[in-house]
Amino acid sequence: MKTIGVLTSGGDSPGMNAAIRAVVRNAISKGCKVIGVKRGYDGLIHGQLEEMNLSSVADIIHRGGTMLRTARSDEFRTEEGRKKALNVMRIFGIEGMVVIGGDGSLKGAEALSKLGIPTIGVPGTIDNDLEYTDYTIGFDTAVNTVVDAISKIRDTSTSHGRANIIEVMGRHCGDIALHAGLAGGAESIIIPEVGLNIDQVCRKLIKGKNRGKLHSIILLAEGVGGAIELGATIEEKTGIETRATILGHIQRGGSPTAFDRVLASKMGAKAVDLLLEGKGSLAIGIKGSDIISIDIQEALEIKKQLDKGTYELADILSI
Ligand code: ATP
Repeated sequence: MKTIGVLTSGGDSPGMNAAIRAVVRNAISKGCKVIGVKRGYDGLIHGQLEEMNLSSVADIIHRGGTMLRTARSDEFRTEEGRKKALNVMRIFGIEGMVVIGGDGSLKGAEALSKLGIPTIGVPGTIDNDLEYTDYTIGFDTAVNTVVDAISKIRDTSTSHGRANIIEVMGRHCGDIALHAGLAGGAESIIIPEVGLNIDQVCRKLIKGKNRGKLHSIILLAEGVGGAIELGATIEEKTGIETRATILGHIQRGGSPTAFDRVLASKMGAKAVDLLLEGKGSLAIGIKGSDIISIDIQEALEIKKQLDKGTYELADILSI
């Protein structure tokens, strides 16, 4: 294989740049040319491609976002759109692709493989919603961003004796709320996999207040509902003053943690190695400390499970 393409797609996540850098530098070190595709599958369809060299990826390992930019593309979901993309790849001589993105982007990677372009998927999303891998690129940074916010909110929460509801990302998967909640010592963690038990949340708050607790932190994943509405309900039911904070897009930005940079570097390099071994249609992951690869279709079929042990531990420790 002489020419590899690389793109980032879907929602961006901190560490995508480190993955791009690893793809480019590992491929070039092994005698391969790398074409960077701007703006995901949309850029692929519309020919936004350019050759990358060693210095194209200089000074990016510590930057959040993605230097290749990202996009969502409805056109790529159609057969016609994918045919256009295939044409562009042929014109640029691309023989293999690395796609960095979330589950939707990995479905697109599978579609590219089916078109005859060996493609490797690298999981880049803050959501950590892919069961086949222990971690996705960007999750650790997002959790650290939330923990940092919890610490700040805790200070003011204590001063005023309030309960703070912090709404974090996670429409279907509560991993950000769960891990940040455990690390930040939240009193309650409300995630889509379990749902909301309002009486239990209120009981915990009242018990805590009676024990002399000066503040309470409630972590709420967006998929369950809104922080403002929940705060109003809690205030009405308990009489405890509440404040709501919606962290929003700050969770997607920022300099990636060392963990995400190392993970992204290993995954990006592995994707290139697999392509050069003649493999395709694989998704890269991490299990324990091993970088693994599994069939993309299989990877996408495994349903994300709640980490019950971590959820129960957070509940025990928040008493
Ligand atoms: P995030 O987890 O941050 O939402 P994502 O990669 O899951 O990221 P999506 O919007 O679901 O984000 O997918 C990104 C792009 O992947 C879509 O805009 C589309 O172009 C492509 N894609 C998604 N699903 C498919 C599919 N079934 N077939 C072909 N392409 C797809």
